[in-house]
Amino acid sequence: MSPCAGQNANQDPMGEIVFQNTLSGHKEPFVPLHPGQVRIYTCGPTVYDYAHVGNFRTFVFQDILRRFLRSRSFQVIQVMNLTDVDDRIIANAAAAGVGIREYTEKYIEIFLADRLALNLETPEHVVRATDHIEDMVKLIEQLTAKGFTYESGGSVYYRISKFPRYGQLAKLDFAGIQPGARVDVDRYDKADARDFALWKAPKPNEFFWNTRIGPGRPGWHIECSAMAMKYLGETLDIHTGGIDLVFPHHENEIAQSEAATGKPFVRYWLHAEHLLMDSEKMSKSLGNFLTLRQLLTGGIKPSSLRFLLAAVPYRSKLNFTEDSLQQAAKSVERLRTFAARLRTGTFPEGRSPMAERSVKARQEFEEGLEDDLNTAQALAAVFDLVREANIAMDGGEFRHEDVLAVQQTLEIFDEIFKVLVGDDAEKLRALGLADSAAFGDAEVEALVAERQAARKRRDFAASDRLRQELSDRGIVLEDSRDGGVRWKRK
Ligand code: AMP
Ligand code: ZN
Repeated sequence: MSPCAGQNANQDPMGEIVFQNTLSGHKEPFVPLHPGQVRIYTCGPTVYDYAHVGNFRTFVFQDILRRFLRSRSFQVIQVMNLTDVDDRIIANAAAAGVGIREYTEKYIEIFLADRLALNLETPEHVVRATDHIEDMVKLIEQLTAKGFTYESGGSVYYRISKFPRYGQLAKLDFAGIQPGARVDVDRYDKADARDFALWKAPKPNEFFWNTRIGPGRPGWHIECSAMAMKYLGETLDIHTGGIDLVFPHHENEIAQSEAATGKPFVRYWLHAEHLLMDSEKMSKSLGNFLTLRQLLTGGIKPSSLRFLLAAVPYRSKLNFTEDSLQQAAKSVERLRTFAARLRTGTFPEGRSPMAERSVKARQEFEEGLEDDLNTAQALAAVFDLVREANIAMDGGEFRHEDVLAVQQTLEIFDEIFKVLVGDDAEKLRALGLADSAAFGDAEVEALVAERQAARKRRDFAASDRLRQELSDRGIVLEDSRDGGVRWKRK
């Protein structure tokens, strides 16, 4: 394997990264345009309501992507837009009797807080469409100057018959398309290729901007082209989103951007498959959706959800079930218990083959992620290590010097997966949800007693795990000198 393009901070030989590129339809070695730096654009949410767990599947994938690239010492510059103007926002704001800015503000705050609960890193630029109207107007003017637009009823449309590569991303053949057939809505079905609105004339009593190209508001697609190129340049390394955005949204972004600049817009297109509920795409329109807060209020930990969303490779569909959430919770618990056992266990001096075994696990972990972010493979490497190390500990074969080696592998794992720190209770509190997830005194007493019993039999791993579990649920323990314990709510 050849070394990757980023600087390797950890000395170990690392393999080449490959990504499945929707544009070419196959896996390609990843080499950024500017050595050592990766420029990523991410289609963010339309902020007219709470984001649902399906949306977060895509956002968790993007977080794994950026964390992985950063672990390879690439500088990541990621832009995420917030679509804070569209048909639904205008309608909802009018119904609520407030301006669109005021209406969307609340959902932006909720979205950003939800992201923190899931340990999603904040992109370098989080930008609102309504702050970039001038950039969009300029881009539309550029397209007009090159003959790619026409006006109809005060709206400006993109003439797709002028862009022969139209359909290349979605792999659709639009040879038979009716020139001049127009569509005004931003979201429409496959094979229904139409000239789409770049700029929409206002409907009666509707909010609008007064601009050089007339009164109105931008279409959804132009928003992303304008903001991506403003912050990242005319050619970006990676563009991400859910698979539903391939057509028409991303196809239209390519048509707009490449017609304006004459340069390739994006080098690697990465799309996350859908999260399904009852075998159908989770979506607002189908009504089969759950928000993060609904889940957390029902007693699910943020770390369980993050783990579940991260564990299934992003190019595979993810079936969301109660059972899979329970499994995820158990997996996180298993990892945390193991980390506690490493921290608190006493092992004989020396070094065993487990130290080497952990280096191999780390290599397998990296190989999984290098292969188009195969998180399932990466996790399997870590869980195999945990199982074998637990067996070695039980058999008294695990040695003091193995601890550091295994801990290093766990650290590298957690740079990407971010589930080891038991801060679920804090996360809930930050969302104002601590009370709903709090548990009763009797349950606390039972766990405290269980921990006391573990301490008595000098099972410090179990005692540490129970302390952590209590802490996760907002309970602090104060051990007294005589071996007793008091507890209180944080
Ligand atoms: P939206 O707010 O509808 O523009 O969606 C925000 C992001 O969530 C986009 O990248 C969508 O492709 C993605 N998304 C929407 N529904 C799902 C789903 N069920 N599974 C995975 N990603 C989704
Ligand atoms: Zn977009």
